[in-house]
Amino acid sequence: MALVIQKYGGTSVGSLDRIKAVAERVIETKKKGNDVVVVVSAMSGETDKLIGLANQISQNPDEREMDLLLSSGERISAALTAIAICELGFKSVSFTGRQVGIITNDSHTKAKIEKITGERVRNTLAKGIIPVIAGFQGVTESSDVTTLGRGGSDLTAVAVAAALGADFCEIYTDVDGVYTTDPNVVPNARKLSKISYDEMLELASLGAKVLQTRSVEFAKIYNVPVVVRSSFSNNPGTLVVKEDKEMEKVVVSGVAYDKNQAKITAIAVHDKPGIAAKLFNAVAGANIVVDMIVQNISSDGKATDISFTVPKTESKKALKITEETVAEIGAKGVVLREDIAKVSIIGVGMRTHSGVAAKMFETLAKHGINIIMISTSEIKISCVVDSKYTELAVRVLHDAFELGERKRKRTKK
Ligand code: ADP
Ligand code: ASP
Ligand code: MG
Repeated sequence: MALVIQKYGGTSVGSLDRIKAVAERVIETKKKGNDVVVVVSAMSGETDKLIGLANQISQNPDEREMDLLLSSGERISAALTAIAICELGFKSVSFTGRQVGIITNDSHTKAKIEKITGERVRNTLAKGIIPVIAGFQGVTESSDVTTLGRGGSDLTAVAVAAALGADFCEIYTDVDGVYTTDPNVVPNARKLSKISYDEMLELASLGAKVLQTRSVEFAKIYNVPVVVRSSFSNNPGTLVVKEDKEMEKVVVSGVAYDKNQAKITAIAVHDKPGIAAKLFNAVAGANIVVDMIVQNISSDGKATDISFTVPKTESKKALKITEETVAEIGAKGVVLREDIAKVSIIGVGMRTHSGVAAKMFETLAKHGINIIMISTSEIKISCVVDSKYTELAVRVLHDAFELGERKRKRTKK
């Protein structure tokens, strides 16, 4: 008998029929003799709808209030899923994040999990009852409701799996695994039977939203085997596990894109020690995560342009802070650009192979795509491009690194 955590995403619980189908799958797993803990997302579109409601009242709503508001989406689907399981003759109870003891820090809208007591889940399982947990939420030590960032139900599932010592954590979504790139953008993307935690971490943090980045970090730290599968089929999914020797042979294993980026440029700031420190301290002080940073020294050597990227959702806040800081340190101005996207190639094999960057740049150039910024790490190369070229860039890179299904296979379909 295994202990299985099953997480169902927004589309998988997107309608009452879908919730009934989820209940059936949960019961099937239970009937096979397993213990099952269910984690659900809000019904698809629900979180965006709630954000929209708040934004009709305020462009800058209080983040504590947003958390209480957004946590309600997952509560609805959790209760409905438990009702659907009971209706099929099995015992089930739903829980909020607080009820299962998911304790977080107080960083509202992107809270970090500090501990999970999990007492009630263990007791419920011991009585043969199926617990259904509302994903994406926790509570601070002082009882304020928090949420775990967009896509955060993945993190709830992996963290609960780690806390309970589950045998594996199944993430049910609307695609049947992790592909070489988004299968909704590149039709001949290839499903991977397994992927290393590190590659998945890069793919996720570079925009492949199939798994939330922090859920992969958690899975890696606590060594939780994760399986990404479809709730619409019984196809085998993708196993996210520790790296093995075979994986190193593949130079590039995936292409990701992220349209949720904005670029801020402080023009002609003084070229002297302490300027960058001042600027990025101010941005970090507002809890904004900066991704890429590029600094160009001007031709006269006295002034420098500093460009950096931030999540689009935080761009206005970052712009205001940069303008304020620049007013103190002196500069020609600040420019915000939101029509950009980051396109990246990922592969653990890059550690041992050369010429990968050159091939990426050549491929983009051949298709007339200008590179605005570049950043590299041991196992990834990212380029910021004009957002109108995102899909084209993803497709041509996927082709150039021969990641797609072989032609022979495609003609058979
Ligand atoms: P859920 O609501 O189930 O959490 P998400 O929308 O968050 O689902 O994630 C699934 C989506 O991730 C897919 O529909 C797909 O468009 C997208 N995606 C992006 N990159 C990849 C990839 N490399 N492999 C699979 N799916 C990907
Ligand atoms: N409902 C939340 C979101 O849309 C969390 C999740 O789906 O995982 O981001
Ligand atoms: Mg998701």
